[in-house]
Amino acid sequence: MSRIDDPRRFLSALLRMGIEEYVSGGEERPTLARIGAQSAACTKCGLAASRRTVVFGEGSETARVVFVGEAPGEEEDRQGRPFVGRAGKLLDKMIESIGLRRGDVYICNVLKCRPPGNRDPEPAEVEACKDYLTAQLEAINPLLICTLGKHAYNTLLGVDARITKIRGRLTDYRGIKLLPTYHPSFLLRNQAAMGDAYEDMQKVKGLLSG
Ligand code: URA
Repeated sequence: MSRIDDPRRFLSALLRMGIEEYVSGGEERPTLARIGAQSAACTKCGLAASRRTVVFGEGSETARVVFVGEAPGEEEDRQGRPFVGRAGKLLDKMIESIGLRRGDVYICNVLKCRPPGNRDPEPAEVEACKDYLTAQLEAINPLLICTLGKHAYNTLLGVDARITKIRGRLTDYRGIKLLPTYHPSFLLRNQAAMGDAYEDMQKVKGLLSG
């Protein structure tokens, strides 16, 4: 068989010639570092004027589960890290309840900048920011996405569902399992819902080990 007829030798010859785009089809998966650098300079919506920092997300680049919240709050805006305030402490406990640590997972939000006064994200802000989230998920390609509250679920699935209707129901986002649960801030205000959230986290554990 000549070099050209042997696919593996042909591919390695192309690579040696530095023609990687022919081998990969030119579709390089974006890295978190590159997407993060783009978001750090973002001025696509009005929040760029009032933010202190862009809170891109943090955690393992190879996480098997990604938690997606709504938007940074005051403390997150100050520190540039997601879920570091009161809701974040509860999220840490939820993660630990299934035998994982914060560093094992990836945590981010729909919006990367804080809405003033912690108001709900506006549709135009979600639209402007959505590509960062989809790129993050594409880069990590987790086994499971756990959405926290209605905004993350509705943004990813392009719907307008109530959290009470969809929580705990496993669905699919572009071939990745997606499990919606309550937002930790909601749980802090509605402790009766903790049991449901605990059940959801057990489901996360089962899905990750199954
Ligand atoms: N609430 C969120 O949705 N995200 C954070 O990062 C903090 C609080």
